[in-house]
Amino acid sequence: AVPLVVSTSTSLAAQKGLLIRNRTAFEEARKLNAVVFDKTGTLTQGKFGITDILMASGYDETELLKIVGALEAQSEHPISKGITAEVKKRNISVYGAESVENLTGEGLQGIVGGKKIKVVSPGHMNKHQIAYPAQDYERLASQGKTVVFAVIDGQFAGMISLADQVRETSLDAIEKLKILGVTSMMLTGDNKQVSELVGSQLNIDEIYAEVLPHQKADKIKEIQEKGYLVAMTGDGVNDAPALAIANLGIAVGAGTDVAIETADVVLVRSDPEDVVSILHLSRRTYAKMV
Ligand code: ADP
Ligand code: MG
Repeated sequence: AVPLVVSTSTSLAAQKGLLIRNRTAFEEARKLNAVVFDKTGTLTQGKFGITDILMASGYDETELLKIVGALEAQSEHPISKGITAEVKKRNISVYGAESVENLTGEGLQGIVGGKKIKVVSPGHMNKHQIAYPAQDYERLASQGKTVVFAVIDGQFAGMISLADQVRETSLDAIEKLKILGVTSMMLTGDNKQVSELVGSQLNIDEIYAEVLPHQKADKIKEIQEKGYLVAMTGDGVNDAPALAIANLGIAVGAGTDVAIETADVVLVRSDPEDVVSILHLSRRTYAKMV
């Protein structure tokens, strides 16, 4: 039988939008000493707006958005939603795209008007040695903007920068974790500059940037091997293996089904302070038991 104090806590938690799926992991949560947050959509709102568009010669903004927008229309990624919203705002009708594929954690590729199109991360550009104006990229990245590159038939065609906003409650959540003696960490596929800027705004203890989706779970393992008991918080399909391996996997709010199914706890609201509530609740619940 489930002790009364535990079932009371679980339903109390549910009322606050904290859904406990794995009671054993929740019980162990009182011993956690590190929380790893996914950046986009967890510490930040995950609502990207376009800030700058730069083109290679031969393209104008509308043409670039018709091409890039064709791919992004077929993805639910926060970056895709941001670009698609701007396309709509400008009343641009995008081209048709075929064979659109997700380059996990690096962007998208597909065929538009018979040409091979990619919309990808700086990491992908470097890995495939595709030349781009590095100074422009550095300037945008140093302003804390997320940058994606348009590549047409293997050539740089333009870059689009986007800005996201830190959630108002993220700073408080990190502060409260410090008081509990819990180390805070950020794990993200986004570039180093953006991540460090967000990290310093929030006083995050450790930052791991430019981590590809398949590396996220390994990173958690590494952190555990340093002796930490780790909670991992994320929302994407990409985050699911990391959520699974963490001592406590926490899926946030509007996350994907995969993330939710893998998680030990689901936060109905996308509020990082709810992570603190989980730790508090676990400590209070199980302190009453022997
Ligand atoms: P996070 O870890 O912050 O959730 P992701 O792993 O989803 O980030 O993405 C990492 C990077 O890959 C993004 O910052 C972006 O450069 C690129 N990327 C991912 N998905 C897309 C997309 N749909 N369109 C363009 N770029 C993308
Ligand atoms: Mg993500």
